Amino acid sequence: MIQPIIDEAVIDRLRSLINGAKNVVLTCHLSPDGDAIGSTLALCHVLHRLGKNAAVVTPDMVPKALNFLPFMRDVVVFTKNELRARHLVEHAHLIFCLDFNSIHRIDKLGEVVMQQRVPRVLIDHHLNPQPVFDVSISFPELSSTCELVYRVLLQLRMLNLIDRYAAQCLYTGMMTDTGNFTYSCENPELYEIQASLMRRHIDKQWLFKMAMNTFSADSLRLQGYALSEKMEVLADQGAALITLTQDELKRFNYRKGDTEGLVNKPLAIPGVRWVAFFRQDPEYIKVSCRSQGDFSVDAICHDYFNGGGHTNAAGGEFYGTMEQAVEIFHRIVGTGGDAPADQAGDT
Ligand code: 5GP
Ligand code: MN
Repeated sequence: MIQPIIDEAVIDRLRSLINGAKNVVLTCHLSPDGDAIGSTLALCHVLHRLGKNAAVVTPDMVPKALNFLPFMRDVVVFTKNELRARHLVEHAHLIFCLDFNSIHRIDKLGEVVMQQRVPRVLIDHHLNPQPVFDVSISFPELSSTCELVYRVLLQLRMLNLIDRYAAQCLYTGMMTDTGNFTYSCENPELYEIQASLMRRHIDKQWLFKMAMNTFSADSLRLQGYALSEKMEVLADQGAALITLTQDELKRFNYRKGDTEGLVNKPLAIPGVRWVAFFRQDPEYIKVSCRSQGDFSVDAICHDYFNGGGHTNAAGGEFYGTMEQAVEIFHRIVGTGGDAPADQAGDT
């Protein structure tokens, strides 16, 4: 039995907003992952089935690896087709914001979204949502935004609108945000939702293959190189670091998505409680962190890397050199001078 968790007054408000809107825009965070784009596509499809003019507008390109999801070709990308994206947002009667907690996570699209005098509905599972949404449905304890979208539809009594396509999208996000149901997945109700999606004839094995186990030869070689040559393990501090510079990425013909999952690997080493991965992108160093237990990488990404996320999975951006980023990592773990983080010695 799946218990209702969303306040009925919030559900009533949402129902009347949906009833009153004809044009709806749905958006999700930059560099969308399976949960971000899966939850957005699923809810968009449900709204189509309700007779709405619904459209997905993303702040930037969705990684090609997620092209297998249904309705991907209808996605309007702000950085690629700004006029169309603006037109959709400016004519929307209702805007859904999925899988992010702060408006800067949708980059320049955020300005356009904030300019509209229409209700904005947040559906998300990140910590500390910004108070800029008219309806805020935020449950950081949940596995994924996809799980939350299912629960929203359950309470709206719209489960009948989840067909096989929407089920594929929702299952994908639940799977990718839990590492194929290995973390953030303790709640038995998650498996009741999984069962309900499976009854809609999704092919779980195929979705796993497409979303989590498809890598190019270059990408596997890059990951092998990173683990063999670029992983630093600080066993006494319970931490590990992987770095990849622009030159190294070029050497392996890096494509967006090629390092997906790499940051999780050092957590397999006994005693490693948290991992940082620094990837030198053209504009900044992309930081990605993972941890186990109550060690919060959200706090680390928030305090040092202009980011945040969840307790055990967070990210950020660092504007500086790789050397500076590495120095900060060493300061955090207490092997590079002062250890400013409360958590540093707590390994
Ligand atoms: P990943 O390491 O897979 O890129 O991201 C892990 C988690 O951290 C995701 O939930 C993601 O939304 C969040 N995250 C990643 N990058 C950033 C960032 O630059 N800023 C913030 N606030 N969150 C991020
Ligand atoms: Mn998510």
